This record gives sequence, structure tokens and C-alpha cells, in this order.
Amino acid sequence: MLDQKSMSALVEALKRLDDGFAGLPAYEGNAPGMGQLADVLKATAERLQDNFPYFHPLYAGQMLKPPHPVARLAYALAMWINPNNHALDGGRATSLMEKEAVAEIAAMFGWKNFLGHLCGGGTMANLEALWVAGQLHPKKTILASEQAHYTHKRISGVLQLAFESVPCDARGRMDVQALAKRVARGDVGTVVATMGTTATGSVDALPGILALREKHSFRIHADAAYGGYFVLAEHLGENAARAFAGIGEADSIVIDPHKHGLQPYGCGCVLFRDPEVGRLYKHDSPYTYFSSAELHLGEISLECSRPGAAAAALWATQRLLPLTHKGEFAQGLERGTKAARALFEKLKADARFVTGFAPELDIVVFVPRAAAVSEASQLTRSIFEAAAKHQLHLAVAELPVKFWEENLGAMKRDRETITCLRSVLMKPEHLDWVERIWELLSLSTSEVLAANT
Ligand SMILES: *Cc1c(COP(=O)(O)O)cnc(C)c1O
Repeated sequence: MLDQKSMSALVEALKRLDDGFAGLPAYEGNAPGMGQLADVLKATAERLQDNFPYFHPLYAGQMLKPPHPVARLAYALAMWINPNNHALDGGRATSLMEKEAVAEIAAMFGWKNFLGHLCGGGTMANLEALWVAGQLHPKKTILASEQAHYTHKRISGVLQLAFESVPCDARGRMDVQALAKRVARGDVGTVVATMGTTATGSVDALPGILALREKHSFRIHADAAYGGYFVLAEHLGENAARAFAGIGEADSIVIDPHKHGLQPYGCGCVLFRDPEVGRLYKHDSPYTYFSSAELHLGEISLECSRPGAAAAALWATQRLLPLTHKGEFAQGLERGTKAARALFEKLKADARFVTGFAPELDIVVFVPRAAAVSEASQLTRSIFEAAAKHQLHLAVAELPVKFWEENLGAMKRDRETITCLRSVLMKPEHLDWVERIWELLSLSTSEVLAANT
């Protein structure tokens, strides 16, 4: 099941890489412990068997998606060199590749003249965006919705910036009226707009937030760690389409190539609309940069050492699958949203389930119908376990009851949150597997309900 065919391409590419160093005197790299290498590697493989099958379409739980083979191979290829994108001294080729790949991501949002780079992930990228926000608006408050990633609150703590949550509406989006009231009180430096929440893929109504900025001149940071690539997707709902159409108006954007961009972990990206913020990074390290007068990525990044391999992988992936509207990559994202809608429709038509709002991206949340919210929450856990026994892997989330309000019917509201089932259908293959996923879910639910009566 795991792809091995593409390994021959890696061997070919390694030979090509080797050609580039043909001028060096012969050298036999003979690391200690080579004798046991194969055994240790097999032992490693055995340890790695203890994982959910993230690569398989029946893994439809958390935000996990295998990297594209070209990303995996380009990353591995770069490992024979292990470049460091902190400075050109350590990663000449991969620094350039990073600049090119990041410029392609920025172009997706309509930005040509910008500042940006790769980071360890969305958390680091958001840290940098909020750090810049805090430098520009010291002592002012950061706002994000109740459904924003918890990292914003924690990062604000690290940066010692005041943080407040803005309530969400029944669709998991920031309540813009509540935001209007809060910004009118003054003192707000930055509003984080979540472009696809981690729990439900809800997209904050960016046009409303942009309109408020006109009057109150706060910064807008778009946390598009999960949803950013959907700027390329067609057939989004009206709210999401309008929000993504305006994302280029944000002051900073975070997007995670390691979520929807087919990359191995360790690849986030932060972008600033105004390249002038680069001055905030100024430092005077005496030892890192001496090989050229060109801009080193380490001069516009809080992290120092960073994997050049991540840049090589991203560059190769975008070369194979350019970030274009209607391109193969964009179509892959659309297949996910179609899969989510198809699963949502099946759940909606089935009396055993309660569905809330329709998915905006590719995440579906639902609960089994029961006499009370507490009981539905317990059934959720049982279905989660029953499905896993049938090789269908879902996730569980704890969300406000108001997300289901219109369809709860007579269900007793004995809790404020409900434990629900959550399915992230982020692999293009998920569309072909919706029927199978539904069959297994239906079967598992029937088993659980039968055992409970
Ligand atoms: C995943 C995610 C993050 C955190 O990113 P990591 O890459 O996990 O560090 C932040 N914000 C949102 C909206 C996310 O989905």
C-alpha cells in the first residue's frame, strides 16, 4: 500500500546531485554503525506501525494528510546535503528556492511586493505575525474569535500582549456585531480573522472585519493556516468566497504548507503585506553572514536554523502542481469540499444524526440523535470507537451546542457543549471513498444504537 515505486526517481536524482560535486577528491563516507543500519531501520519501521493509517482514505479524522511523493523525495534528496536556510552560507540553493516558492504562495493572495518566509509551522508563523503586530501596536489588545486556534491566546501570553476572545455565531464564525462593539471601545491593535477554523472549517466574515478597520484602523491578521489554499478553489459558499476574495487586504497572512500544501511537517509560512516590517527583525549577529551582500532569510525570521529541505520539497511540489485556479492542485481541494458536502447530505437525510451548518471547507461535524445532549455526547464516543474497529478513523471534538441548535429538536440541553464526531476530508481521494465511509459509519452507528437499547 505504501508507495515504493517512486524510490527509483530518488536514486536517479541522487546521481544527478552527485554530479554537481564531481570536482572534489574522492571520499568514502563510512559512518560508524553501518553494519546494523538495515536492522535498526527495520526495527524503526516496526515501531512506526503503531500509527493510525493517516495516508489511507479511511483515515478521515484529524487534519492529517501524507505529503505528495515529490515533496517526500525532494526532502529526502536535500537530506544528503542538509542545507540550513538561516543564511546563504548554509543553504544557498534552498534559500533561493524558498524565496521562489514563498513568492508563488504570496501571488495566490495577489501580493507581489511583500515580506515572507517559511517557518516551523503555523504556530511559529502566527507567533511572528503577532510579534510584528505587537511591535507596531504596543500595549494594545489582540482579538480573535472563540473558535480561533488556541495558539493565539497562548502566543499573546508569550509576547505579553493583552488578548480577548470575540464570541462566535451559530456557524462558528466571529460575530462581527460583537466585534464592532468591542473595537468601538478602543484599544484594539490587531484582529485575527480565522480563514477556516481548526474545528469546523468555518471562515470568518472578512469583508465585515475589513469594513470595521476603515473606521478603527487596527491590524488584520488572517490565520489561514488551514484554509489559505482554498483561495484557489471554485464553488465555495458565498461567505467563504467573499472572505477569500478579500484576504489580500489583510496586513499579514499565515498559511501552512504542511496542512493542505502536501508538505511534510515543519513547513508553515508567514507573509506581510508591507515589506517595511523587515526593519523590526534587525539584529547584529557578528558571525552568521559574510558570504554575500544579498538578503539572508535569517535577517527576516525569528527562527535561526531552518531546514532547507523543507524549501526544496515545497519548491518541487509547486513546480509539479502549480498554485493556479482550476489547476490539478486546486481541483484536489475542491474534491475535499465535495466529499464533505456529500457526507453532510447523507447525515442530514438520516434521522439517526443531527447536523448543524453545512461545511464551508472540507470538515464535517455531526452528532447522533439522543434524548439529551449528555447522552448524545456519550454515543459519540461509542461510535468513534466502533468505527475505528471497522477501520474508519474519525475524530471527536467538543463544540458549543448552539452549532446544532436549529436541528436539535426535543433533545434536552443539559450541557453547554456537545461532544461531536468530526471528519476532515482533506485528501482528494476522499471523494471516491464517501460511499464507503458512509457505509462504515452507518454500520458502526447501528451497532452502537442497538447495544444501547
Ligand atoms: C493548525 C493551525 C494552527 C497551528 O499550526 P501548526 O502548524 O499546528 O503549528 C494555527 N491556526 C489554525 C487555524 C490552524 O488550523
